[in-house]
Amino acid sequence: MKIYVLDAFETSGIQYLKERVPGVIPFGDPRAGRWHEDADGIMIRGRQLSADDFAKAKKLKVVSKQGVGIDNIALDAARAKGVIVCNTPGINSDAVAELAFGLTVAVARRIPEFDRRIRAGEEIIRPRFLGTEMAGKAVGVIGMGNIGVRAARLYHQAFGCRLLAYDPYAPADAWADLPHQRIADLDELWPQVDVLTLHVPLTDETRYIVDRAAIGRMKRTAIVINVSRGGLVDETALCEALKEGRLFGAGLDAWEEGEPPQPGNPLLALPNVVATPHAGAGTHETQAKSSLAAARQLVHVLEG
Ligand code: NAD
Repeated sequence: MKIYVLDAFETSGIQYLKERVPGVIPFGDPRAGRWHEDADGIMIRGRQLSADDFAKAKKLKVVSKQGVGIDNIALDAARAKGVIVCNTPGINSDAVAELAFGLTVAVARRIPEFDRRIRAGEEIIRPRFLGTEMAGKAVGVIGMGNIGVRAARLYHQAFGCRLLAYDPYAPADAWADLPHQRIADLDELWPQVDVLTLHVPLTDETRYIVDRAAIGRMKRTAIVINVSRGGLVDETALCEALKEGRLFGAGLDAWEEGEPPQPGNPLLALPNVVATPHAGAGTHETQAKSSLAAARQLVHVLEG
């Protein structure tokens, strides 16, 4: 049996594989380019798997993806070839929700901006750099799955925020204890939010769920947080609104082009944007847990 590890993984999952399967080709091994020939299983994180990859794979039975979003995998092609695709939902919820929360505070209180200005030796004329408080504010959460619910709890518990939850598909049981208003129509949501945080997968339905019109209807004091996927927010419209002071700020971990975003990205020139490089799940704890979970699933499927 051959297993190829095609992305860099935290060691716990690799150790687990090596103890159970003799033929593990580690990440970075020069033989990695041959995986189409003889891989029974592959371990991946963010790498793209195209329809062509599945067409060329001769023996592949399972793809184990560490992480939640599977938009990097040509699922129709996998299905057509009978390849099982598994991911590791739920494991990274604390890490990603905590980043959403952290970005919100960083934007609201201008923390990275102050840090940059202090280091550059700039004079800080206080009235020009006022922040905004979170206590009691309205937080719109789009997507009440594992991460969205965890984030909602943080905003509620830490700041007593009012929660406006939009998710037409999620049963409310998982968050019945959390005081919230369920929003049925997004048009109702935009003008109400002080913070908008996104926790949906990227699908045809969610692409540009925050479009130019939505941004135009939000308060000038609102903050947009995207720790989900680039493509959920119209970045050009967001950039214009932030530049013209039609939004307070944005915290972005997910980008339309390039993760991390390239230095020429106009959003990076704005002081009211806090940027992270798709680091939502990037904690020691989550990487160890999800590496192991991805390896366990792979072995489980291959052992039938
Ligand atoms: P999840 O499947 O538990 O939750 C997703 C929720 O989105 C579900 O409740 C679903 O009903 C809802 N949803 C789907 N389509 C919707 C729509 N059109 N409108 C409103 N709600 C809709 O997933 P999760 O674990 O909470 O992860 C959410 C997303 O976070 C992932 O899809 C991924 O894109 C992103 N993510 C980012 C990072 C990072 O490092 N920044 C890490 C993990 C996950």
